[in-house]
This record gives sequence, C-alpha cells and structure tokens, in this order.
Amino acid sequence: MADRYLSFTGTAPGRFLTGRLGLPQPAALRRWTQESPAFEGGVLLLTAGKSELSGPEFPAPSDTPAAVLLDATGVRDVEGLAEVHAALHPVVRSVAASGRVVVLGAPLDAADHHQAAAQQALEGFTRSLGKEIGRGRTVNLVRLTDASAAESTLRFLLSPKSAYVSGQVIEVGREVGRAQEADVDPDHPLAGRTALVTGGARGIGAAVAETLARDGARVVVLDVPGASADAERLATRLGGSALALDITAPDAGARMAEALPDGLDVLVHNAGVTRDRRLVNMPAERWSSVLDVNLASVLRTTDALLETGTLRRGGRIVATASNAGLAGNAGQTNYGASKAGVVGLVRSLAPRAMAEHQVTVNAVAPGFIETKMTAAIPLFIREAGRRMNSLGQGGLPVDVAETTAWLAHPASGAVNGQVVRVCGQSLLGA
Ligand code: NAD
Repeated sequence: MADRYLSFTGTAPGRFLTGRLGLPQPAALRRWTQESPAFEGGVLLLTAGKSELSGPEFPAPSDTPAAVLLDATGVRDVEGLAEVHAALHPVVRSVAASGRVVVLGAPLDAADHHQAAAQQALEGFTRSLGKEIGRGRTVNLVRLTDASAAESTLRFLLSPKSAYVSGQVIEVGREVGRAQEADVDPDHPLAGRTALVTGGARGIGAAVAETLARDGARVVVLDVPGASADAERLATRLGGSALALDITAPDAGARMAEALPDGLDVLVHNAGVTRDRRLVNMPAERWSSVLDVNLASVLRTTDALLETGTLRRGGRIVATASNAGLAGNAGQTNYGASKAGVVGLVRSLAPRAMAEHQVTVNAVAPGFIETKMTAAIPLFIREAGRRMNSLGQGGLPVDVAETTAWLAHPASGAVNGQVVRVCGQSLLGA
C-alpha cells in the first residue's frame, strides 16, 4: 500500500507545507539494491574510554561519513560517558542522510556497579539519539564480548540493509563452531544451504524467501494448500520448491522433515494470523486459532525438526514476534499473547539449541510493515501506526527480510537469543 504522505513530503511544495505546519517530514530511506549495495562515505571510527578491541576494517570516512562507529566498550564510569559525548557531539551533524550510528558496548559487569551504570547508560543514550537524529538515520547499540564474532552484525547495521532497524540493543556473544566472515562468499553467504520459510507465499514471507534466495539459499516456500499457486510461482522463480502444508496439522513437523531429506539450515517461522476482537467479545475459537498458528505450531515444528536432526549443525531458527507482543495492543490479546510467547521460546531455547545442536534461535519483531495485513487497518489507526516511530513511516517487507538474512548468515553464530525489532524505533513498547 502506497504511503502518499511520504511521497508528498518528498516534493518541494510538500516539504514547504509540512515544514510550515510543523508536521512530520519522514525521509525517503536508502535501501539495498543490486546496483548500489553499499553506502559511499565510509565509516568514521571513534573511541570513548580505554578500548582493547580490534575489529573489522571499514572504508575510510569522507567529510560526510555514511556511518559512525563508536567503540564505548571501555567506558566504565561517568567520566567515560563524557567521552561518549565528546566523541559524538562534534560529528553527529555531519552523518549523511540515511546514515548510521552504531555504538559498541560491553556486557554489564555484575561485580562493578559503576561499570554497569555507565554501560546501561549507553542504552538510554542510544535510544534518545535515535529519536532525535532524523533524516532517515538510525542509531543502534551492540553489546559484545568479542569483536571478531560481531562482524556480520556490524556489516548489517552499517549497511543500507538495516534501513528500518533503529533504537535496538543487540547482544553478540562468543561463537561456538565459528564460521568467519572471511570464509563466506560475501555475495552468496547462504550458498549450499537450504532455507524453509513458512507463510512464504506472500507478504513478509515472500520477501524473506526472495532475500534468502538472493543470498544463495535453496528456498522451500511453505504455505497453506489454498495459497499453493502463489507459493509454486514464487518457488519456481527462485529456483526452489513449494510445500503445501498447514502448519497447524499435528504431523506438520514430520511432513517438513520428510520434504527435507538432505536436511535444513535455516528455518524461518513467518506464518502468522490475526483474529482481532476485545477479550470481552472474543470466543474461544478466535483465541485458539491464533495461538495455534502463531505459537503452538512454532513450538511443535521446531521440536520436531531439532529432534529428527533435520536442522543441521550451524543451523539458524528465525521466528517472528511482533511489536504487539512487546507493547500489547487493544483488540489483540490473542495475537499479543502468541507473539510474546515466541519471545519466551527464543529466550529459553537459544542457549540449549546452541549447546545441543549448534543452532541459533532468534526472532524478528516487526512494527508497522506495509503489507495486506496492515492495509486492512482503518485509515486513521493506520496513519498513526505509520508515523509513530523515529523514522516517521512504515517499514517494507524487505526490511524484515534483510534482518532475517543477517540472523541466518553463517557468520552470525554469536547472535543468539535476540529479539530484534524492525520497527523504525516505534514509540510503542519502547
Ligand atoms: P500475511 O497475512 O500477508 O501473510 C501470512 C502468510 O502466512 C500467508 O501467506 C498465509 O497463507 C500464511 N499462513 C497463515 N496461516 C498458515 C498456516 N496455518 N500454515 C501455513 N501458512 C499459513 O502476513 P504478513 O503481514 O506478511 O506477516 C508475516 C508475519 O509477520 C506474521 O507472523 C505476522 O504476525 C508478522 N507481523 C507482521 C506485521 C505487519 O505489519 N505486517 C507486524 C508484526 C508482525
């Protein structure tokens, strides 16, 4: 669905009028394209506090850097925070439109409350800067223990692929069974891997299937039998295959495993439904159908694919939560419960799946994304949903897809148990 307001504010009269009226002026976001896959302008590297990190190399910055990477891992006290101010204050204005600010932080030290206070302060700092920086620029915080394990994450956050990811705090641990970025084909990181996307026939799922195929994966597009024509068409175009299956079927996990005799590397739980009604008016059937698709099937099929060994070592699970699961939403007690349940699944399973199967488990949590689901929302609520975030606009399915592709990347093994919002820093549930 077209965002006419965004198109209007992109014109000279639109900018003039909305400026005079004090209305939001969302910037057109720069996204990844085949022709222009990376930012020009380089990355300005800054340090606050004593740092012992040696990280990946990035192109040198111009006068208007596309990105600023501030290493604040050595900040241990309030004086160190003053160095954060001193480093960013003079340069933040020069960051290009649609540019990036990424702050690197350290894990909170349980034995040093001064360090913990200073490192936690970086979260409030990052989120506040994200809200004020404007011009389509994003600000994120990465807490890391080992910079080399964070390379795929930094490359994603510093690229046009992360256009709608802002105000996030992402933890990157140490990697087990490491695939170094250097060992991976940068253009086709998923070459030789198989990915299955549930609900892949349309909307966000179709964008995920396309993006994983772009990255070299052989994609299985799973959707309900009623959507099999669309699923087949997409799978054929992507050189993959389609699987007509309702994920709520009791044997869905076994049938997925059967369709993947050579194993699976990337499992994307994207299928989801809404059946909105306030709790007082909600019959049990509306409750259970949403819980069944969005949560129970995700739990059942995940268990089946891990237990049968279909998900190979080095595998990735990316589930789909939602802003509604984090912030709550009137009329969506069923949906909000199901999506919060996905967050619980991720947090509990992630360390065990890594220890027992070397599989990571993460979730994307989309905010307002322009799809058929959000086109059905009444006009005024839809307009509010679009604007109530730091970027002043809705995201596109490809924004969720790019985030999924980063989590699915072979070098993202140290990103585990994370719930990453793709919401333009939504004001809800912040
Ligand atoms: P959509 O309705 O356009 O697509 C969902 C797909 O899932 C459809 O192709 C549908 O046939 C399939 N599906 C539904 N039930 C299924 C089942 N039982 N078995 C197999 N396939 C099934 O939705 P979308 O907007 O693309 O959303 C995709 C995911 O993102 C969902 O989990 C949704 O909850 C989540 N999400 C979307 C938004 C948004 O703004 N669009 C926001 C937050 C979360």
